[in-house]
Amino acid sequence: MREDALDAGESAAARAAGAPRVGVLALQGDFREHAHVLSGLGAEISLVRRPQDLDGIDGLVIPGGESTVMDKLARAYGLADPLRAAIASGLPVYGTCAGLIMLADTVLDAIDGQQSLGGLDVVVRRNAFGSQNQSFETDLDIPELGEPPVHAVFIRGPVVESVGSAATALATLPDGRVVAVSQGSLLGTSFHPEITGEHRFHEYFLRKVRARVDQG
Ligand code: GLN
Repeated sequence: MREDALDAGESAAARAAGAPRVGVLALQGDFREHAHVLSGLGAEISLVRRPQDLDGIDGLVIPGGESTVMDKLARAYGLADPLRAAIASGLPVYGTCAGLIMLADTVLDAIDGQQSLGGLDVVVRRNAFGSQNQSFETDLDIPELGEPPVHAVFIRGPVVESVGSAATALATLPDGRVVAVSQGSLLGTSFHPEITGEHRFHEYFLRKVRARVDQG
């Protein structure tokens, strides 16, 4: 109880200071890189490992890693349903790579009974680039983020095979495949801005977080 009260108080103070509190799902994957970028942009960071860690956060990042493992751990720690409830209640969430898979309503090439959290009205395919081209880098023109193009690093990433009516494609490869999507407070990228010094996606996400905080 006391810890919860403290958390709520700190969150209110962070808001008053203009710093949103952003949770980073820290079950597995490159959560430290996200925490580093977000704190550099002025956010207060909470690592999320237990359901109570969701209390008082204004937004959440789901990192890259391995979605099958993240799914298993989220269910084992009793986090999957609280995460689904948080997404349904409008919490801003940004997923990169495995995080995008976790946010997708439908996952193709899922294995071992893998479940996603859902929320994003998209169909993604895991490991979509095949064994010859699992990892690569390319520059993407993303009108929403302006110039210069985003240098995008793909590491065994998914592609968005179809974008439902609720979601919007933000970035496509030259062959037309969608690799970044937005839907209200949700954001997902197939690639990893957190490891390239590219901060515009995190800034874009923090704008969604602040808009939601301002709504009350
Ligand atoms: N291939 C991984 C998965 O299916 C994602 C890889 C990543 O996040 N870099 O979850």
